Amino acid sequence: MFNALVVRKDEDSGKTTGAVEQMGLDDLPHGEVTVAVDYSTVNYKDGLCIGPGGGLVRKYPHVPGIDFAGTVEESEDPRYKAGDKVVLTGWRVGEAHWGGYSQKARVRADWLVPLPSGLDTRSAMAVGTAGLTAMLAVMALEDHGLEPGHGPVLVTGAAGGVGSVATAVLAHLGHEVAGVTGRPETADYLRDLGASRIVAREEINETVKRPLEGETWAGCVDAVGGAMLARVLGQMKYGASVAAVGLAGGAALPATVIPFLLRGVNLLGIDSVMQPYDNRLRAWQRIASDLPMDKLEAMVQPATLTDLPGLGADILKGRVKGRVVVDVN
Ligand code: NDP
Repeated sequence: MFNALVVRKDEDSGKTTGAVEQMGLDDLPHGEVTVAVDYSTVNYKDGLCIGPGGGLVRKYPHVPGIDFAGTVEESEDPRYKAGDKVVLTGWRVGEAHWGGYSQKARVRADWLVPLPSGLDTRSAMAVGTAGLTAMLAVMALEDHGLEPGHGPVLVTGAAGGVGSVATAVLAHLGHEVAGVTGRPETADYLRDLGASRIVAREEINETVKRPLEGETWAGCVDAVGGAMLARVLGQMKYGASVAAVGLAGGAALPATVIPFLLRGVNLLGIDSVMQPYDNRLRAWQRIASDLPMDKLEAMVQPATLTDLPGLGADILKGRVKGRVVVDVN
């Protein structure tokens, strides 16, 4: 028997509740690889899946947790054997499939990535989906020509999970980083991660009044979307790129096409869920080499399975700083 956070739905009221329950290996869904989970994390989507569902969960009872790292216990796939350290993000695990808020998980071999050398299971989950996505965003900006020395790179939602990792990686690579935050009390934290400038959320959150403003940013990792992304597009330098990662501030994009037409600005979409294996591997290897582990440790907020219902509600309210690492054992 082992422990898992199980979310159940009351069919009459439609209300969901999550609690730690015991289950057996036979309760786990089908998959080629059974993993003894060490750590999982809390992402925005986890907040939805622990709580109201957000249309992501297909069936109840449900075990959330969109990412995990652990050790292979049993494998029917030749790519993995007992004892291998693995990490999983995406593929709708924790949404359509049972996820990592459990001491054991059973998944498809295709969804796993071997843990790169230089990372242990805890540091891999300190990075988690948010950190992997931040790295995919940085790689996309680089693939579109961003180099240190081009000018300041803006990170929106900087004190969140994606923003914290993006800030640390960009600063480590030698970029000048400006972090947008709505929480002024996180300024020291962001400076420690490497941000040289803090931009107040209200400074940049207003609806676009002029389609083009001064050319300010050489690149942007945007975790916020909405009015902020629309505004940022008009502040990009000629030919610069914005990697659109998230929608913490809204899914609408109240922008004009003028920055694309007159400044050759690029809007790059970043998806971590269906990201092809080779690029995932490249991103994890880049994390091992380009994310300073001491900075990563500063982002970590430790938690256990029993903390998850509260943390799920917190992340939906934008109250989580950095990365929550859940020790499921
Ligand atoms: P967090 O909640 O940790 O961070 C989001 C941050 O955005 C907050 O910390 C806050 O930063 C800022 N924020 C929150 N609400 C608002 C608002 N109303 N207006 C402006 N800023 C706001 O989440 P994650 O970092 O884990 O994820 C960020 C986004 O990226 C989410 O939308 C998530 O769904 C998405 N995502 C997308 C992925 C993909 O594959 N494309 C993968 C992973 C995440 P501060 O306090 O500093 O202002």
